[in-house]
Amino acid sequence: MKAQRTRSQDRILNLLKTMNRAVSAQDIYVELRSRDQSMGLATVYRSLEALKLEGVVQVRTLASGESLYSSVQQDKHHLTCLQCGDSIPINECPVHNLETQLQQSHSFKIFYHTLEFFGLCDRCSIAPVASENS
Ligand SMILES: [Zn+2]
Ligand SMILES: [Zn+2]
Repeated sequence: MKAQRTRSQDRILNLLKTMNRAVSAQDIYVELRSRDQSMGLATVYRSLEALKLEGVVQVRTLASGESLYSSVQQDKHHLTCLQCGDSIPINECPVHNLETQLQQSHSFKIFYHTLEFFGLCDRCSIAPVASENS
């Protein structure tokens, strides 16, 4: 089912497709303004909501509570460091086949899935958290 998109929704979707990383609504707002396509932050949020329900935009919420948006084509997963907040993309999807299976067995139209791994990155696992005896 293809909904009729507004011009704002089109602009946001095009922007997300050209960025190869997930961005916050605030980033989108700033980026659009720099491209002479500025729109209010409320419109950005409303458009993102509509695109999300259409299944073309996905949201990822960071440990900090910030929401990052990306276009759904990218089936990307991340290793997120709990200490420094670094987010390392991984280039494989271990559940791709499962998704196909679930769509069939549950007759459920899956738009996307999320899968994230949390822990400590290389740098943070070496450095002590609170250095009491330094
Ligand atoms: Zn780290
Ligand atoms: Zn995946």
